[in-house]
Amino acid sequence: MKTARIGGGGIAGMAAAGALAAEGWDVHVYESRTAITDEGGAIVLFENMHRALERLGALDGAIANGDPKTRFSYRDHANRPHVASNANPMGGRYVYASRHEVHRALMDAAVSRGVTVHLGTRAVAADPDGSLTLDSGAEVRGDLVVAADGVGSALRDHDTIRPTVAWLGHYGIRVGIDAELSVAQPGEFWELWNGPLRLGFGRLGGRKSAAYLSAPIDGFTADASSMDVDVWLRSFPDQREVVEAIAEQVPSVAPFSKVTCDRWQAGRLAVIGDAAHGMPPHRGQGAAMAVLDAVHLGAVLGREGVRFGGTGLQSGSDVSRALEAWESEVRPIVDRTQRVAVSFCRMQDSWPQAAINARPWAFRRLIRRRALDLSLLPPVAA
Ligand SMILES: Cc1cc2nc3c(=O)[nH]c(=O)nc-3n(C[C@H](O)[C@H](O)[C@H](O)COP(=O)(O)OP(=O)(O)OC[C@H]3O[C@@H](n4cnc5c(N)ncnc54)[C@H](O)[C@@H]3O)c2cc1C
Repeated sequence: MKTARIGGGGIAGMAAAGALAAEGWDVHVYESRTAITDEGGAIVLFENMHRALERLGALDGAIANGDPKTRFSYRDHANRPHVASNANPMGGRYVYASRHEVHRALMDAAVSRGVTVHLGTRAVAADPDGSLTLDSGAEVRGDLVVAADGVGSALRDHDTIRPTVAWLGHYGIRVGIDAELSVAQPGEFWELWNGPLRLGFGRLGGRKSAAYLSAPIDGFTADASSMDVDVWLRSFPDQREVVEAIAEQVPSVAPFSKVTCDRWQAGRLAVIGDAAHGMPPHRGQGAAMAVLDAVHLGAVLGREGVRFGGTGLQSGSDVSRALEAWESEVRPIVDRTQRVAVSFCRMQDSWPQAAINARPWAFRRLIRRRALDLSLLPPVAA
């Protein structure tokens, strides 16, 4: 049986663990946190994420308390709709789900396939020879080692991966709210834009709601440690309930970045999720792309004959060739998605005020752009 060592047990790491275990691998995940606790907030699951979660056997758990959205209201500074629709403008399924429950469902699916999760275990280095060094100094070895340790990854630093992290000067907050927001009915999804500020919210199941906001530094204190509540109340006076509900949580602020790497693989090392291609969350695709990487990684390694003891993947160079194939198949989809996410971010924070009335038109064009098919999973050639 082949062994995989995964550094980082976030959404990407847990998804990869489940995908590899389904192909017959012995998988160990090393996660630095001591527990998988509620990270707060919700994420949107589009059609691509639904299909990927279905393949991993994690869809039911992920959406058990989610709210399927059927009415969409994206509005501009003058409260005019960019998009007001009774159908998902991007096509396919659209569920607003607790991020924690998505993460938990992926972990449960992986564990039910025999994956071992080592909580409270930080990895400090990953090597293309298949070794993962833990902070205890111990070195564990595998036929495959996966760096899934997020935007600030320590495990991807290798001279052939060559990562670049570009901070976008844009920040965000995402929170879960333990109440039913009166401004959003079940099934409704709201996103409001005013100048460079953006506020989104909707119900979850179980009498809960969730909300997010993002902006350049204008929407936050000068040190970017918290939101500037007055700015948000002035910009969205009709949404006092939502702004105050967010502020009440004293949420932490996430700086957005764009991560690019020359390569996502070297030898027996694969880099996945935000560690490989972190992106601003403007198309709700960061987690979806992380899961896409993972599902496709399992599929390609499976295709190469591992599970059935075929002739593939007998040596390090076989693994390396399989990882090259994986990157070349999945990367075009992820790169395109990342480009569109950054364009959305710039459309929000850098749109000239003099042309503000043209922004809804540009928004509609970008949201419906055929180049970004949110139902797509990479096909696995035989
Ligand atoms: C405000 C906001 C809103 C978002 N909304 C959406 C959305 O609607 N839809 C969507 O698809 N995406 C969304 N995203 C993006 C999504 O959350 C990320 O893309 C996704 O979580 C990436 O998963 P990951 O596993 O690659 O990284 P992470 O979630 O960062 O997980 C990395 C894991 O590795 C662990 N770790 C780190 N270093 C080490 C180490 N050295 N050793 C061991 N473990 C380590 C961490 O503790 C963590 O558990 C949003 C992001 C933000 C900030």
